[in-house]
Amino acid sequence: MSIGVGEAPHLRGWSHVYSGKVRDMYVPADQESGRGGDVVLMVASDRLSAFDHVLPTPIPGKGVVLTQLTLWWFEQLGDLVTNHVVSLDVPDEVAGRAMICRRLQMYPVECVVRGYLTGSALAEYRATGEVCGVELEPGMTDGDRIDPPIYTPASKAAVGEHDENITFEQSVDKVGVTAARRLRDRSLAVFDRAAEIAAARGLVLADTKFEFGRENRPGDPELVLADEVLTPDSSRFWRAQDLVPGSTPPSIDKQYVRDWLTSPDSGWDRASDAPPPPLPTEVVERTRERYVTAYETLTGQTADV
Ligand code: ATP
Ligand code: MG
Repeated sequence: MSIGVGEAPHLRGWSHVYSGKVRDMYVPADQESGRGGDVVLMVASDRLSAFDHVLPTPIPGKGVVLTQLTLWWFEQLGDLVTNHVVSLDVPDEVAGRAMICRRLQMYPVECVVRGYLTGSALAEYRATGEVCGVELEPGMTDGDRIDPPIYTPASKAAVGEHDENITFEQSVDKVGVTAARRLRDRSLAVFDRAAEIAAARGLVLADTKFEFGRENRPGDPELVLADEVLTPDSSRFWRAQDLVPGSTPPSIDKQYVRDWLTSPDSGWDRASDAPPPPLPTEVVERTRERYVTAYETLTGQTADV
């Protein structure tokens, strides 16, 4: 896949194997030749995606902020779920925005939990009264609370395509009933804890996506929480004070850049095939501030970027 902006850096001792929209993944250089082989290096770049495009201008510090936030969450959740972090002893060039992780076999299910009705769930509810096969009470509207939160899995789409919402039964077809139940129950438990922590900071966790994997060992594998967790890129966080019945509050991070992209100022036609334009310095700075604010509000710590 061509990224165009912020190409994956060359790192001594590591071989680059994959780049998603935001992250670059490496394996130990000797692993390629078949030796060793149970860790990956995950590097969070400063790339920003919006409307399914990688924007041509990076947001300085974003990779550090999101990596530090993920690590902070793993600590908060340590008693509920095992995570994939092995070490932070990473090459200097990517210090702060990389972690060495257990190389897992990922479950082909994105574990989405929703505590509020918005986005693709709202569209599905309006059409069918259900979200991923879960029936919700009639008359709900944009931004309404879903209590208790619901598990709405998705199948991981190919690069460039949208993830597709699936029912719990379809997730059973993909991973078997035991794993499907574990994924659901663990996701709901982690969501509850995270929502409670966010609420204590004046933030609403509207929805989020987890990815789990397992070690490639025979027997009954333990569920390991992988990927990034509870970052503004994988979740919707709203300010509690912005909740207004009947509408989706602005998400604290990306809304600003989305608004700019769709304003006449950007000169971009979202409906066209054209790539989004470069971001002006002012927009980069305001967006960066928002990621930092999300980090600082949640963790109560000053971001070191
Ligand atoms: P995008 O986010 O661009 O839509 P993506 O989610 O595939 O695509 P990234 O998030 O940038 O890409 O890259 C992370 C990739 O690494 C994901 O495919 C994720 O499932 C995978 N992954 C995360 N943790 C691990 C792990 N511990 N072992 C193996 N793969 C992992
Ligand atoms: Mg991802």
